[in-house]
Amino acid sequence: LFGPERRNSEGLAFGDRAAVEALRTGVARVTGPFAAAPILDGREVEGRTRTVASPIDGASLGTVTEADAAMAARAMDAAAHGFSDWAATPAETRAACLERAANAFEADRDTLLHLLQAEAGKTLDDAIAEWREAIDFLRYYAAEGRKLFAAPVALPGPAGEANTLALHGRGVFAAISPWNFPLAIFSGQIAAALMAGNAVVAKPAPQTPLVADRALRLLHGAGIPAGALHLVPGGPEAGAALIGHPALAGVVFTGSTATARAINRALAERDGAILPLIAETGGINAMIVDATALPEQVADDVVASAFRSAGQRCSALRLLLVQEDVAEGMIATLVGAARGLRLGDPRDLATDLGPVIDGQAKARLDAHIARMGREARTHLAGTAPSGLFVAPHIFEIGSVADLREEVFGPILHIVRYPVDGLERVIEEIRAAGYGLTLGIHSRIERTWTRIAAALPHGNVYVNRNMIGAVVGSQPFGGTGLSGTGPKAGGPHYLTRFATERTLTVNM
Ligand code: GLU
Repeated sequence: LFGPERRNSEGLAFGDRAAVEALRTGVARVTGPFAAAPILDGREVEGRTRTVASPIDGASLGTVTEADAAMAARAMDAAAHGFSDWAATPAETRAACLERAANAFEADRDTLLHLLQAEAGKTLDDAIAEWREAIDFLRYYAAEGRKLFAAPVALPGPAGEANTLALHGRGVFAAISPWNFPLAIFSGQIAAALMAGNAVVAKPAPQTPLVADRALRLLHGAGIPAGALHLVPGGPEAGAALIGHPALAGVVFTGSTATARAINRALAERDGAILPLIAETGGINAMIVDATALPEQVADDVVASAFRSAGQRCSALRLLLVQEDVAEGMIATLVGAARGLRLGDPRDLATDLGPVIDGQAKARLDAHIARMGREARTHLAGTAPSGLFVAPHIFEIGSVADLREEVFGPILHIVRYPVDGLERVIEEIRAAGYGLTLGIHSRIERTWTRIAAALPHGNVYVNRNMIGAVVGSQPFGGTGLSGTGPKAGGPHYLTRFATERTLTVNM
């Protein structure tokens, strides 16, 4: 997977105080206001604007001009126009644009980190991890794309016949991305679609248009032609206009399972070609812990998996299954570790959990907490500062089936299973239908090979935390209710954005 031509980006050593302080000073020096607007053919379009507020403290960060349905349709027209030139651009040139964009993202570190913190409420280490992931996606798809798209592959045939197979862009891709990775997933979708030779209309999440606008300008600045990449900040009506547009050739989407289904339905109802949907959706992610696991390590990994990023990752742990005979001690250690977590302004280095993304998210989480307070046994219920903060909660429920939907926040559910109950637990997880991440803590190889073989999850992690998939090392994405595949940051991702054509010549 790693060619000599590519390496993942460098991290920051948090032990190096001087480096951390220099970075923080740079990030703090960035000042707004920022603005986001539809960008069609490289030009900003005017329209109705609204304020973008920080989830940290409600401070105004700038404004966004939202695209309505008509503007989204115009972006699709513009992309349809730009497609042929971009498709005819050599793969090497396309890859070089993405690599220049990666360098530009690196150089724009302070502003991108500032926006990830202010607009998405990320802690510094989460912001850095996301910024690096965005850079890694750009370089990874450039490197993979060079192998796949540079030249047709010769295939065998009888004497006198020459066969080749080539990959081509499909046309215009709608790239619809989430607020929880507003830089990495936004840029990763775009990079893959562009590398495969498609034109792109990108719709960032309504909560995070500012960092998307910034990234898009960097992509254009790196040489992606204005005609090949357009930005449409907006809500569901803009999204629906993209999906309904006659020029649409495919959709790449990350978000909820319900929205993926709605997109799938809308695509099915269109006349004409049958279009691909690449969807990465949610999960009710479980971790199974048996009696051989090390309690301190489990506590550490559970805290990271369930509570880091305020639980706002698709990959986050929602359901911890603990073998009954060690459950009491395991839970006590875990609760002790989780009690020490600090909530607050994520720009403060001591903060473990920043805010959740908006009032709607908070209301949904508060309602779930209230219901669990009545129906479950409460092991941990912290109090949160005022604002959009949700304290980590740990509830014990009776069975896997008691958790019916993905709860997108710092709330962990625990189920105890009997010593002879592993097969039943496996069956219950399978029956829920999700297949994104799965954690296993066990020192018995037979146990984790059995669990991994029996469940369809896309990303399985043994004896470690289950978040933060690394580009090229842990290609990310699930199965079943969790998504269609292919996996982002993996070797099979780009081909789904392309058509395959053979050419047979009788010499
Ligand atoms: N790739 C991220 C991780 O492994 C999660 C992506 C998402 O939340 O959509 O934590």
